[in-house]
Amino acid sequence: MAFDLVLFGGTGDLAWRKLMPALFQAWRHGKLPEGGRILAVSRQDLSDETYRTWLKERFAEVEDAKRPSDEEFGRFAALLHYLRLDLSKADDYQRLAAWLASSTGRASKADVVVMFLATSPDLFPVVCAQLGQAGLNGPNVRVVLEKPLGHDLASAQQINRVVRSVFAEEQAYRIDHYLGKPAVQNLTALRFGNVLFEPLWRRECIANIQITLAETIGVGTRGDFYSRTGALRDMIQNHALQLLTMVAMEPPSRNVADAIRDEKLKVLRSLKRFTPESVGRDVVRGQYRAGNADGKATAGLLEEANVPPGSTTETFVALRTEVQNWRWAGVPFYLRTGKRLAARDAQIVVNFRATPHAIFPGQNRANKLVIKLQPEDGLELHLLAAKGAGQSEALTPVSLDLDFDKAFAENRVGAYERLLLDVIAGRLNLFVRSDEQEEAWGWVEPVLKAWRDDDTGPRPYLAGTWGPAAASALVARDGFAWSEEE
Ligand code: NAP
Repeated sequence: MAFDLVLFGGTGDLAWRKLMPALFQAWRHGKLPEGGRILAVSRQDLSDETYRTWLKERFAEVEDAKRPSDEEFGRFAALLHYLRLDLSKADDYQRLAAWLASSTGRASKADVVVMFLATSPDLFPVVCAQLGQAGLNGPNVRVVLEKPLGHDLASAQQINRVVRSVFAEEQAYRIDHYLGKPAVQNLTALRFGNVLFEPLWRRECIANIQITLAETIGVGTRGDFYSRTGALRDMIQNHALQLLTMVAMEPPSRNVADAIRDEKLKVLRSLKRFTPESVGRDVVRGQYRAGNADGKATAGLLEEANVPPGSTTETFVALRTEVQNWRWAGVPFYLRTGKRLAARDAQIVVNFRATPHAIFPGQNRANKLVIKLQPEDGLELHLLAAKGAGQSEALTPVSLDLDFDKAFAENRVGAYERLLLDVIAGRLNLFVRSDEQEEAWGWVEPVLKAWRDDDTGPRPYLAGTWGPAAASALVARDGFAWSEEE
């Protein structure tokens, strides 16, 4: 299948750090369909050759395992082309149309054209509108939208309106790269491909669910972007809520995009709504101060480059919510994310209830299933076992550790690689539909509003810790603890 992939923002950070390495891996693994062309687009005046040289230099900064040899890069580079375009100028899209219609690098016409928008989202409406004007929105065109898709519900709706005026919903691929992680697909496989867990996957057997997306890095060079965004918009509205839907959804009737997305949407619609009072009680916002992270002294947010003085942007959020339906009534879902935390750790922890009656010493620990997303991918099932010595000996915690990296080493694909291949193949299962995305924005809006109306601002926490103490209190109030505190 011949494809054209147009990378708008082809000289940007996302392009060289994530997308090009992912495309290279797909090519190296032999998964990129034959006869593809990759067209990088930006305003710089570069030839194909200078773009290839530029990218080769960038690739030197990519981690070892993902770095091509000279010989590999030479062959991969044959797919790469470059076109200078100013996306804000209508005339430039005619040049794009002409390039796509040309036989540069390939004789036949593309079966599929992927428009990957890796630029600032401010450009999304104009790019989509202009693609439509230039007739570049035919049924074989797919448009990929990177986060952040809007700043609030109104701006997300505005982007979606423009996208929908040009493309059908099934042509729009909204990326949430957490959904491309192998552990998330294995969560679905575990739930819906096996009989073991589904009967237990409910309020009668599960005490609480915790989703943690913790980073040790600070805002780095993105102080300006981050101080306008904050952790709620950057991580909770999209990634954490998407993970929550994958954990909480009902079994879809079929493994097809809309069956899955309908179930995810139902979860989002069942989430307990926040009120000004419940935001004060159930949501903790924090901001990091100078401390010690990753073994070295680090600055606080307010000392970081390009962060406005006195910024009240939150770099940490912990919240408690519930999915209000028969399966989950009363089960707390705790979501937590932050920068400059004690560890780089992204995981979903499903804490089961304790056995109703204990007959062994040491039987006070409940089972838990840990779905690990970062730093490595895997599933861990924590059980209690007898060492086998004496009757009176306490049970010992053991864990069944499914290390996907080892188990499926030859088939491992990274999140972006997987998602890019899915776009080319037209598989929408792991992409977010506009109604899901708007529902998620609607759910966080009362929190954004309550914070705007409350000038106490975020709680400070020291870099290198697990955030404000109030986050522990939030969970302790229900008689539970975050997994690292157990
Ligand atoms: P970036 O480094 O600033 O790159 C922006 C790209 O867009 C550059 O190639 C730039 O090229 C191009 N561009 C800007 N205005 C243009 C115009 N009028 N016409 C043509 N090209 C134009 O940004 P980024 O970090 O790659 O991020 C891109 C998007 O992805 C942002 O929305 C960001 O929030 C999102 N994102 C980034 C990351 C990440 O890790 N970087 C992760 C997730 C999401 P020229 O200036 O040379 O034209």
